[in-house]
Amino acid sequence: MKKKAIRPVAEKGAAGASALNVRQRKRYCYFCKENVDYIDYKNITVLKKFISDKGKIRPKRSTGNCVQHQKMIASAIKRAREIALMPYFKR
Ligand SMILES: [Zn+2]
Repeated sequence: MKKKAIRPVAEKGAAGASALNVRQRKRYCYFCKENVDYIDYKNITVLKKFISDKGKIRPKRSTGNCVQHQKMIASAIKRAREIALMPYFKR
Protein backbone atom coordinates (compact mmCIF):
# COMPACT_ATOMS: atom_id res chain seq x y z
CA MET A 1 0.00 0.00 0.00
CA LYS A 2 1.19 3.46 -0.86
CA LYS A 3 1.81 5.92 1.87
CA LYS A 4 -0.01 9.18 1.39
CA ALA A 5 2.16 12.21 0.92
CA ILE A 6 1.76 14.73 3.66
CA ARG A 7 1.00 18.14 2.31
CA PRO A 8 1.14 21.29 4.37
CA VAL A 9 -2.52 21.92 3.60
CA ALA A 10 -3.27 24.46 6.30
CA GLU A 11 -0.18 26.55 5.67
CA LYS A 12 -0.58 26.52 1.91
CA GLY A 13 -4.27 27.20 2.15
CA ALA A 14 -3.79 30.21 4.39
CA ALA A 15 -1.09 31.72 2.18
CA GLY A 16 -3.09 31.02 -0.96
CA ALA A 17 -6.22 32.53 0.49
CA SER A 18 -4.49 35.76 1.49
CA ALA A 19 -2.83 36.07 -1.92
CA LEU A 20 -6.18 35.43 -3.58
CA ASN A 21 -7.85 38.10 -1.48
CA VAL A 22 -5.23 40.63 -2.50
CA ARG A 23 -5.61 39.68 -6.16
CA GLN A 24 -9.38 39.64 -6.15
CA ARG A 25 -9.88 42.91 -4.31
CA LYS A 26 -12.62 44.72 -6.19
CA ARG A 27 -11.27 47.70 -8.09
CA TYR A 28 -13.64 50.49 -8.92
CA CYS A 29 -13.60 52.99 -11.73
CA TYR A 30 -12.65 56.38 -10.29
CA PHE A 31 -14.52 58.26 -13.04
CA CYS A 32 -17.71 56.22 -12.74
CA LYS A 33 -17.70 57.00 -9.03
CA GLU A 34 -17.28 60.72 -9.70
CA ASN A 35 -19.83 60.64 -12.58
CA VAL A 36 -17.34 62.01 -15.11
CA ASP A 37 -18.47 61.99 -18.76
CA TYR A 38 -15.50 63.87 -20.23
CA ILE A 39 -11.84 63.71 -19.23
CA ASP A 40 -10.00 66.95 -19.92
CA TYR A 41 -6.64 66.49 -21.63
CA LYS A 42 -5.37 69.71 -20.01
CA ASN A 43 -5.92 68.32 -16.51
CA ILE A 44 -2.44 66.89 -16.02
CA THR A 45 -2.85 66.15 -12.31
CA VAL A 46 -5.55 63.58 -13.09
CA LEU A 47 -3.80 62.13 -16.14
CA LYS A 48 -0.55 61.69 -14.22
CA LYS A 49 -2.23 59.09 -12.00
CA PHE A 50 -2.76 56.88 -15.04
CA ILE A 51 0.76 56.72 -16.42
CA SER A 52 3.59 54.55 -15.15
CA ASP A 53 6.88 55.99 -13.91
CA LYS A 54 8.25 55.41 -17.40
CA GLY A 55 5.48 57.53 -18.84
CA LYS A 56 3.46 54.68 -20.34
CA ILE A 57 -0.30 54.52 -20.08
CA ARG A 58 -1.20 52.10 -17.31
CA PRO A 59 -3.45 49.22 -18.38
CA LYS A 60 -7.06 48.79 -17.34
CA ARG A 61 -6.15 45.82 -15.17
CA SER A 62 -3.88 47.99 -13.04
CA THR A 63 -5.98 51.16 -12.90
CA GLY A 64 -9.34 49.44 -12.42
CA ASN A 65 -11.07 51.77 -14.86
CA CYS A 66 -13.99 50.63 -16.96
CA VAL A 67 -13.60 50.30 -20.73
CA GLN A 68 -15.22 53.62 -21.60
CA HIS A 69 -13.18 55.64 -19.13
CA GLN A 70 -9.95 53.82 -19.95
CA LYS A 71 -10.44 54.77 -23.61
CA MET A 72 -11.10 58.38 -22.61
CA ILE A 73 -7.97 58.41 -20.43
CA ALA A 74 -5.86 56.92 -23.21
CA SER A 75 -6.98 59.45 -25.80
CA ALA A 76 -6.64 62.32 -23.29
CA ILE A 77 -3.07 61.27 -22.52
CA LYS A 78 -2.27 60.95 -26.22
CA ARG A 79 -3.69 64.43 -26.84
CA ALA A 80 -1.71 65.84 -23.93
CA ARG A 81 1.46 64.25 -25.33
CA GLU A 82 0.78 65.82 -28.71
CA ILE A 83 0.79 69.34 -27.24
CA ALA A 84 3.77 68.50 -24.99
CA LEU A 85 1.92 68.59 -21.68
CA MET A 86 2.98 65.01 -20.98
CA PRO A 87 6.02 62.97 -21.95
CA TYR A 88 5.99 60.10 -24.45
CA PHE A 89 8.53 58.36 -22.23
CA LYS A 90 10.74 59.09 -19.26
CA ARG A 91 14.14 57.66 -18.58
ZN1 LIG B 1 -15.84 54.24 -15.61
